[in-house]
Amino acid sequence: MILTLRTRWLLAAIVVIVAAAAITVSRTHQPRRLAPLVANFSGDGAVPAISRSMRPVQVDTLRISVAPQALPSDASLDAITAELYTALAYVSARTGTTLAGPITVQILADPQCALHGAAYTQTREVHVTTCAAIPPARAVNILAHEFVHQLAHDYYGDAHLRSDPILLEGWATWGAGHYWLGRHATFRAFLGGQAPLPLITNHLGRPAAEMNTLYYQWASFVEYLLVTYGRDAFDRLYRSGNGVPGSADYQGVYGVDLATLEAAWREWLR
Ligand SMILES: [Zn+2]
Repeated sequence: MILTLRTRWLLAAIVVIVAAAAITVSRTHQPRRLAPLVANFSGDGAVPAISRSMRPVQVDTLRISVAPQALPSDASLDAITAELYTALAYVSARTGTTLAGPITVQILADPQCALHGAAYTQTREVHVTTCAAIPPARAVNILAHEFVHQLAHDYYGDAHLRSDPILLEGWATWGAGHYWLGRHATFRAFLGGQAPLPLITNHLGRPAAEMNTLYYQWASFVEYLLVTYGRDAFDRLYRSGNGVPGSADYQGVYGVDLATLEAAWREWLR
């Protein structure tokens, strides 16, 4: 078929318009990401050796990539890969949940050497930002928490994106278990009776130390709910929130409101 010059221009214009429309549609259909979730942690534990390698490594479930300057120069990529698989197996067993598919793990470098993590559960990516001066074990501790966010996505479905932050972050912190507990056996023991912040506190934009305190309190509250009311009720509660601290249906699930539960939890902490 021979096309006139005018027809060709017309067709080219149509192709451009269709392509632009397709890009717009794909942008508007991109999955909503969780806001970056910060967790600062000062735990102890074995420090794996990490290699200088910067190429991505793909070993079944975890697709790990390490940015230059993110880890100490003598670090072994094989060792941190093994550590991350160990962490995933641990948090999976602790929470009784499993991944529905592979996830991407990005170990990124922060020029200011800030340690923080984020989970983008709909795109199946977890990030930790660290630097060569921070022991890699601390990045693993953060990633253990981010793994629980992904497991929560795969277990609770979309409900996890709108869950009450007390439960969203409390569950991820509780699920990370010994990666956040250090020498303590439980979050109750970790707090040692100290819980200075109200449970209903907005965690976003807080200084790292305060956010850290809040996460430990929320983990301890989750621990209290699990011990007192069991997992099935907790699962119903987790699914009932609307993204605001205190929004889960505590009254409907447990028959008591959050203020009453908080008072009982504070009593339990003593
Ligand atoms: Zn988190």
